Amino acid sequence: LFVPASLAAGAAIAVTPAQAHHLGTVLRRAVGDPVRLFNGSDGEWAGRIAMVRRDRCEVVLETQLRPQAPEPDLWLAFAPLKRDAIDLVAEKATELGAAALLPVLTERTVASRVNTERLAAIATEAAAQCERLSVPRIEAPVRLPALLASWPGTRALVVAVERSTAPRIHGCPGPAALLVGPEGGFTGAELDLLARHAFVQPVSLGPRILRAETAAIVGLALLQAPAGG
Ligand code: SAM
Repeated sequence: LFVPASLAAGAAIAVTPAQAHHLGTVLRRAVGDPVRLFNGSDGEWAGRIAMVRRDRCEVVLETQLRPQAPEPDLWLAFAPLKRDAIDLVAEKATELGAAALLPVLTERTVASRVNTERLAAIATEAAAQCERLSVPRIEAPVRLPALLASWPGTRALVVAVERSTAPRIHGCPGPAALLVGPEGGFTGAELDLLARHAFVQPVSLGPRILRAETAAIVGLALLQAPAGG
């Protein structure tokens, strides 16, 4: 379970009401049952339930199971998609180790509203499910020109461009973010704007036109693959 609290031997951690409900009512866990907790910085801890009620549960920590491991410095910037597709992207990007998810509003972006709380909840659940010890940061949506204007120049922006002669993705060039366009793709003006920035590296994901959510998943996997994921 993800908890935003410091973890140390002997600490008594109160989980959220939703987590308490899940443990006590859905999973039927009782006092004395083991639980594993992580907070994104102190590794993974084993604890036992000290108290559980309908919407309250306290876990007392015993031992650290795993230290916090270094993770890939890879972000995913993506044009928001319709609900099912954006949920899928949040879940899979978390499984694939993305450190941050940045919704980017482009000219052809259809979904203009992004429920960042919902994405954070999906990412938190996915992190616990895949035994990752951190949860990706979810940024507020930003327009593409504003993103480029404030981009940290030391981080490569790897832009997936279909029907291009750009090189295929091969590994991660240090700190990087993958940028994937909306269902309708980037406009010509956006591609021109992107090309004016030295930190932008266009890449191809192959000859077929992938759905945006597929492109995000495949792109992250290919960026990670040489480093072992
Ligand atoms: N409507 C566009 C078209 O028909 O040409 C396709 C856009 S595609 C569905 C959505 C996004 O996925 C693109 O903006 C791009 O970022 C990414 N993408 C899809 N296929 C790709 C490929 N083969 N190589 C690189 N990027 C790709």
